[in-house]
Amino acid sequence: MKSFFDNERSELAELFQPAFRATQIFKSVYQLWLDDFELMTDLPKLLRSSLSEEWNVKLPPVHRRFDSVDGTRRYLMRLDDGELAETVFIPEEHRSTICISSQVGCALACTFCLTGQLGLTRHLTPGEIAAQVLIAQRDNLPWEMRDSFNIVLMGMGEPLHNYDNVMKALRILHDEHGLNMSMSRITLSTAGLLPGVERLASEPAIPNLAISLTGATNDKRNELMPINRKYPLEQLLDVIRRFPLKHRQRVTFEYVLLRGVTDSPEDALQLVKLLKGIRAKVNLIPLNEADELGYQRPSDAVVEKFQQILIDHHISAFVRKNRGNDISAACGQLKKKWADQIPAEQDSRLDCR
Ligand code: SAH
Repeated sequence: MKSFFDNERSELAELFQPAFRATQIFKSVYQLWLDDFELMTDLPKLLRSSLSEEWNVKLPPVHRRFDSVDGTRRYLMRLDDGELAETVFIPEEHRSTICISSQVGCALACTFCLTGQLGLTRHLTPGEIAAQVLIAQRDNLPWEMRDSFNIVLMGMGEPLHNYDNVMKALRILHDEHGLNMSMSRITLSTAGLLPGVERLASEPAIPNLAISLTGATNDKRNELMPINRKYPLEQLLDVIRRFPLKHRQRVTFEYVLLRGVTDSPEDALQLVKLLKGIRAKVNLIPLNEADELGYQRPSDAVVEKFQQILIDHHISAFVRKNRGNDISAACGQLKKKWADQIPAEQDSRLDCR
């Protein structure tokens, strides 16, 4: 059976006659949350049964959900081949955040990231990427709040390494007859895969861009993020300077603070120098520690001092709150932890109506 979620509306319009059926079905699936063609009573009966035979319109089952004391939830979504995709829902009063994965594992091997230790298992399909959003949305947001969320591509994987599938998923989520997510509510985070950033710059609809920096000099970044050996900082910054930004839009730079490695006042000054002339915003992320990682998180005082240096040099700098640490849901902690305690038969499907 073909997965419904893998398709853009324009593709479905080519398959279905008359073409407006694609719009009808898109609305039923993404706006009315129907997960069975038989419930789509605006379709002719015969079409309903033929669709049911050919297309799977059920969301993938949730293998396990972890609930943090701070309200954050981590999902392991079971894929057709038995692999798991990780998704995090971070509740906020006004607008929550859904953090999705683009790959199972990751090929980039950043030394401070647990996902980096897994290596890459495989790319996620467009449908597997889009379905993560729907699962987190439907499980957490009441109907009247259903659109109150942003999406960040900051889960497992390097989104620009899986460029075509990621962009297709974003177009599906962006569709006016689907979720109708504005690109301004989506942030794509990359470790700096330059050809991907350049390609992104030429898209008709572009999400917000976040760059994971962490090292402010090539020496340091080469050591922490091997991708820097291929695309060094000066090339990266050059491409970012030319990246198209809307009025008041900025590029976000994520900077992980590692004790004794990236957290000194000199590091902060290097960062100031690097970002000169760029419409930037910096998110400082004090390391989320893990036994497998050979780094420590700096003290709060050191974090504050680092932030103050940036602010003194007129750079907006925020310290990322550490959410969902108790369930391994924080940045860099996604690593299939506790994935195998429950047999697949016990995976549960969301009853989303
Ligand atoms: N590959 C993409 C998407 C992953 S985003 C990227 O690199 O941007 C994950 C974010 O978490 C990145 O900004 C990364 O620098 C950060 N991160 C990774 N490991 C971390 C850790 N142990 N503690 C805090 N942040 C971490």
